[in-house]
Formats: sequence, structure tokens, C-alpha cells
Amino acid sequence: MPTSTPQSAPTNVEKKDLLYKGKAKSVYTTDHDDYLILHFRNDTSAFNGERVEQLERKGEVNNRFNAFIMQKLAEAGVETHFERQLSSDEVLVKRLEMIPVECVVRNYSAGSLVRRLGLEEGQALNPPTYELFFKDDALGDPMVNESLSVSLGWATPEQLEQMKALTFKVNDVLSGLFEAGDLMLVDFKLEFGVFHDRIVLGDEFSPDGCRIWDKATKKKLDKDRFRQSFGDVYESYEEVAERIGVL
Ligand code: ADP
Ligand code: UDP
Repeated sequence: MPTSTPQSAPTNVEKKDLLYKGKAKSVYTTDHDDYLILHFRNDTSAFNGERVEQLERKGEVNNRFNAFIMQKLAEAGVETHFERQLSSDEVLVKRLEMIPVECVVRNYSAGSLVRRLGLEEGQALNPPTYELFFKDDALGDPMVNESLSVSLGWATPEQLEQMKALTFKVNDVLSGLFEAGDLMLVDFKLEFGVFHDRIVLGDEFSPDGCRIWDKATKKKLDKDRFRQSFGDVYESYEEVAERIGVL
């Protein structure tokens, strides 16, 4: 990767080779070393890739959703990899050296926290909690901590501190945004990477990587609809998008 900091994203970008095919997105190199193209596919997976299905138009909804959120975060001062949408299901991003740690904030108990501690789902967590997981499907994304992340060379203490501060900042910005749509942001996962020595928010923010409930009814409007086979997955994502003002 070049070391000089690029001033701005190139206007013309050519898609080159498939670099990585993830569970939900494909990553392509471009003719610019500092930029990648992410293709949001319709594949939807659960249980670390054990169950995979195609959900029509999910790639497009997530691409739109993600673009809206990333722009809101940038406006709030969070540096993200997002540059611009290239098509209905593709986005141009900065090429990051990803840190293999998933940063999770929880405002209410759900998911693995409920399973781990036997809590009731939906208990308010005051203040919100912060957890780290090692991004490794084969190991089932085990929980880790800052100390281990440093010892294993995944990130420096300073980078981890920044990731934590940024994740809480994202929580403040987005909790307000969802609240305005009468929605609860229950929890979410972020991934960060390094771009020319800076910690930058990468990957995506969409209902695939967070939990969102209707405030009044507590109806689940996120990927738990797929995990728990409730149906109407794409329709629920669309509903959330409309309620928070995604065009
Ligand atoms: P997974 O790897 O969990 O199956 P995806 O299907 O979403 O996930 O694949 C996208 C992959 O691209 C992820 O591994 C993610 O860490 C990586 N990624 C996301 N944004 C960037 C970026 N800006 N630069 C480099 N890699 C990225
Ligand atoms: N999450 C994610 N990818 C993962 C693991 C978790 O996007 O590989 C998100 C998940 O959608 C939820 C939050 O992170 O919004 C917390 O997930 P949890 O630890 O409760 O795990 P889960 O119940 O999803 O296994």
C-alpha cells in the first residue's frame, strides 16, 4: 500500500480482481491501490455461515442503508471508509488494513449476552456495555479483550482506545437517529481498519449487523428475523430505512 496520504477519492475507478468473497459482500481491487469496491450480495448468513439463503434485493437495501449511515457518521466527525455509491449494490471505499476484532456496543440485553449470562432479553444496560470478539468464523467469533488483542499483535493500546471511543460515539449518534424513528438500537457491531496510520470505520452498518426493535411493540426489525425464521426480512429492513429517513 502506498504511504503518502491520498487527497481525495479518484473520480474514475475501474474494478479489477476479486480480493475476497465474504459471507455477504465481495471485495474487489481497483486500479487505485488505496481504494476497493464492495459488492453487497443478496446472500444472508447466520450462525457463522452455517445457514445461507438468498434474500431478493437485500444487497441493494443494505448498500443504501449503509451509505446513509456512513454519511451521518462522517457528518458527526467519525472518519469512515465510505467514498461513494457506484451502483445499486456497489460502493467505493478506502482500502483498510482490517483489525480482526469486532466491536460491539449493547444498549439492551440480547443475543449472545443473554445466552452467556442467562439474562432476560431487553434489559436496559446502563451505561451501555462494550465487548470485543475475535473475527473468526471457524472459532465462532470468540469473545476477547483489549489485553489479548495487544498481546496477539492485532492492534496497539492506542488504536483500541480510539476504536472504543469511536464505537461509543457511533452509539450516541445512531441511538438518536433510531429514536427519532421510534426505534430502539439494541446492539450493533463495528469493524475498524487502518488507513495511512489512522483508525477508520470500515465494513458496513446495516440491519445485518445490529439489532433494531420497534419502540412500542418491541417487534424485531433486523437480522434476528432471519436467524429466528420470522420472515419479512427484507420488508423489515425497508421499514427501518423509511423510518430513519433513508431515501
Ligand atoms: P465476512 O468476512 O464476515 O464474511 P463480508 O461478507 O461482509 O464479511 O465481507 C466483507 C469483508 O471485507 C470483511 O471481511 C471485512 O472485514 C472486509 N472489509 C470491509 N471493509 C473493508 C475495507 N474498507 N478495506 C478492506 N477490507 C474491508
Ligand atoms: N454481529 C455481527 N456479526 C457477527 C456477530 C455479531 O454483525 O459476526 C452483531 C449482531 O447482529 C448483533 C451484535 O453484533 O447486533 C451482537 O451480537 P451477539 O454477540 O449478540 O451475537 P449473536 O447473537 O448475533 O450471535
